[in-house]
Amino acid sequence: MISLQSYVRGRWVAGSGDTKTLHDPATEAVLGDVRQGGVDFAEVLAHATTTGGPALRAMTFPQRAEALKALSAKLHEHRDELLDIATQNGGNTRGDGKFDLDGCTGTLAYYAQLGSQLPAAAHLVDGDGLQLTRSPRFFGQHVLVPRPGAAVHINAFNFPAWGMGEKMACALLAGVPVIEKAGTPSALLAYRIAQLVVDSKLLPEGAFQFLAGSVSGLLDLLGPMDTVAFTGSSATGALIRGNKHLVTRSVRVNIEADSINPAVLGPDADGDTFEQFVANIATDMTQKAGQKCTAVRRILVPADRIAEVEEALVERLRAIKVGNPANGDVRMGPVASSEALATVRAGMQRLQAVSDTVLGGPQAIADRGYFVAPTLLRAKDPNAAVLHELEVFGPCATMVAYDGTAASAAALCNRGGGGLVASAYSDDRAFVEALVLGIAPWHGRVWLGSEKTMSQATPPGAVLPATIHGGPGRAGGGEELGGLRGLHPYLQRTAIQGDRAVVGRAFGRDGA
Ligand code: NAP
Repeated sequence: MISLQSYVRGRWVAGSGDTKTLHDPATEAVLGDVRQGGVDFAEVLAHATTTGGPALRAMTFPQRAEALKALSAKLHEHRDELLDIATQNGGNTRGDGKFDLDGCTGTLAYYAQLGSQLPAAAHLVDGDGLQLTRSPRFFGQHVLVPRPGAAVHINAFNFPAWGMGEKMACALLAGVPVIEKAGTPSALLAYRIAQLVVDSKLLPEGAFQFLAGSVSGLLDLLGPMDTVAFTGSSATGALIRGNKHLVTRSVRVNIEADSINPAVLGPDADGDTFEQFVANIATDMTQKAGQKCTAVRRILVPADRIAEVEEALVERLRAIKVGNPANGDVRMGPVASSEALATVRAGMQRLQAVSDTVLGGPQAIADRGYFVAPTLLRAKDPNAAVLHELEVFGPCATMVAYDGTAASAAALCNRGGGGLVASAYSDDRAFVEALVLGIAPWHGRVWLGSEKTMSQATPPGAVLPATIHGGPGRAGGGEELGGLRGLHPYLQRTAIQGDRAVVGRAFGRDGA
């Protein structure tokens, strides 16, 4: 039994006040607890901005990149221990845990590599310099400079490692100190990672602080140079976006929220393309017990192919062994908490009201633990609003029939109100092009599966640091990662105007 502490102002401090208990979701055994209060947020912010920020900004981009590289290696050294914690407190199979943890260390390593190629300067040049008047003397140059505030990172429970790692990588490389808040139900993994970060001494004092409990009140203290990067549900995201202090002080806020991700089977898709579609959907439904923001929730299938898809998916899903992920042969563990289980069951029931149940359902499948069966539904009416509006954050997806045209598939995809990722499986270029143009404005990422990419593509559920993550509308309207774009929330873009001899040489490529 462990009581999680926060790492603030250079030391670990015990929390106080209300307690939340951490469980092993497979056995319901109590593992530890988190106290919700006891941290002076004003002091945390002051420490970040007066100690951590200046120390980070005294380092060049390549020096900060070097620290990220060493941090990635340090966490990787502890991989087995961290994977065990992901199983105990997250209900992760070994594969689920690797997806999270290797995603974390991989993203840190990616930004280390990117940063190693940046100039040893205090700013980044943004685009070419510009002659602003008829005279070549008067010159303009956009630059990106680190903002002297703090990066407050609020993470969701489902990716305790990756969520923290990807946000940290971007902020620290930009030169901005981080304050990391873990999602409570699975906080044990984030806590152990925080201990390793602190013990490594790879980051200057004040560059990394970790909050174990609630952040209630912290956002009210933020100022114009601070950034909030939030990952979680649309409901909490909306609450944060609407915080009046953040609004009035123009605090930068990036929201990564939920999404009713669609997968579209093209009318032509067969052979390898069809296999890829079935395999990816079965993986998405069951990896991390469906607790992935990018998991497919709506499976769009030409009406005359529903039976074929149903048969193929049922065969795949039936072969997946559900149980305690501590057992090596188990392929899907429980959802993360009793609250999550109750929400997933209630959500499945709401979807069942407009669908036929093909496999699974919300009923209990074990005496103990937060288990729920992989559940495949078939919509009775493709236009039923709940299909396009309700995220069931568990191993559940619904087949929705469409008429086989790109236009009708796009219209259904976009009913999700803005998504993180839409995937499409087809070798018909005209269909693919029409679909992509129809759905691109509504989705942060469009993933295309085809015969040619079968053996080479990463699955649509995987977020890659080189391409952006985030989406419009209900997905939060945010954008993370995407190579150097990932640093932008932490950098100020400023136009410098003046004598070319000064501006071009000191801030532009003329001096390079
Ligand atoms: P959540 O309940 O919205 O919580 C997310 C985070 O916000 C947690 O750290 C939570 O802390 C904190 N929080 C809750 N209320 C808050 C408030 N009033 N002010 C500030 N912080 C607050 O979401 P979750 O259940 O952890 O995560 C699941 C959801 O996240 C799903 O809907 C999923 O789709 C979404 N998600 C999105 C992405 C993405 O990248 N777009 C990635 C992963 C997950 P406590 O845990 O202590 O309550």
